[in-house]
Amino acid sequence: MRVFNFSAGPAVLPEDVLKKAASELLEYKDSGQSVMEMSHRSKEYGEIISSVEARFRKILNVPDNYKVLFLQGGASLQFAMIPLNLKKNGKADYVITGQWANKAYNEGKKILEANAVASSKDKTFSYIPELDSSKFDKDADFFHICANNTIYGTRYTDFPDTKNVPLVADFSSCILSEPVDITKFGLIYAGAQKNMGPAGLTVVIIRDDLIRDLGDSVPTMLSYKTHADNGSMFNTPPTYGIYILGLVLEWIENNGGLAAMKERNEKKAAMLYDFLDNSKLFKATVSGKARSLMNIPFITGNEELDKKFISEAKDAGFINLKGHRSVGGMRASIYNAMPVEGVQHLVEFMKKFEEDNA
Ligand SMILES: *Cc1c(COP(=O)(O)O)cnc(C)c1O
Repeated sequence: MRVFNFSAGPAVLPEDVLKKAASELLEYKDSGQSVMEMSHRSKEYGEIISSVEARFRKILNVPDNYKVLFLQGGASLQFAMIPLNLKKNGKADYVITGQWANKAYNEGKKILEANAVASSKDKTFSYIPELDSSKFDKDADFFHICANNTIYGTRYTDFPDTKNVPLVADFSSCILSEPVDITKFGLIYAGAQKNMGPAGLTVVIIRDDLIRDLGDSVPTMLSYKTHADNGSMFNTPPTYGIYILGLVLEWIENNGGLAAMKERNEKKAAMLYDFLDNSKLFKATVSGKARSLMNIPFITGNEELDKKFISEAKDAGFINLKGHRSVGGMRASIYNAMPVEGVQHLVEFMKKFEEDNA
């Protein structure tokens, strides 16, 4: 029996997607083979990857002057690729809103002069700091933010205006969760395993002018130009992951596109936040407009009770509710593929737990 999976990543996928993948697992259409077995240079696979890219562009409204790259190495490799490729003046600004943002910053420091313009570390990253644009470096090569902070459950609702400095954003845990104005960004990147598909695929959306010929200064595989010039086929791309992304995109389309995703995600998040705000036992760790729609951390204030809750929830079919090891407590990740009923049932379970443990 399938459970309700609240994992932060790799995370739940739409059941329709898994069923379609299962039905095509042995033989994709009339090709006589599985997508996993196909040459990435074959005509069949060529059609798959180009249709996935076209669908991705359409759904996210990606302008023509941006490339969409299908890479590997996770969001974590982008922490290094971004400074390697965008470095010109040798400095960049970073906002530190959590562990991933901080990892990006630390990796940046190895390659250029990385400046932390703001941080929310003083309150365990439970908010998005106010940004004072007079502190932004006008000569920075880029300005880096993490759009949704998976571990702490915060997100940007307004993106900073960085003028001529390219805004670079980690969208790993919020891509495809709502419409986004791509033109505000120089580069957006995201690992697939939260909202797009299986682990192993990383998607980069990059504005053409940021794709530079780096000559021999950067290893071939770490250069965006290599991948852009070769349609993400310089070497073998994560073929099956790209195919599953295609099925996820098809599912998004069939379910009303990103506007409908946003509406559904807001509804799910509101259900859980409303319950938390009225509970005598549970409490959300983030308040106000920075609350994430995707990752919702909460606590009882009593570690033993947290443990009991996580264990009883698991027995009742709600798995992966344990908070990140760095913060403790609980966290419900409710990505696109988490059905409304999943959140409904979780809230009912929490109500019952609250009554039994008051
Ligand atoms: C999960 C996550 C990462 C790390 O992704 P990998 O693909 O494991 O490298 C980075 N940033 C954010 C915001 C994440 O949620």
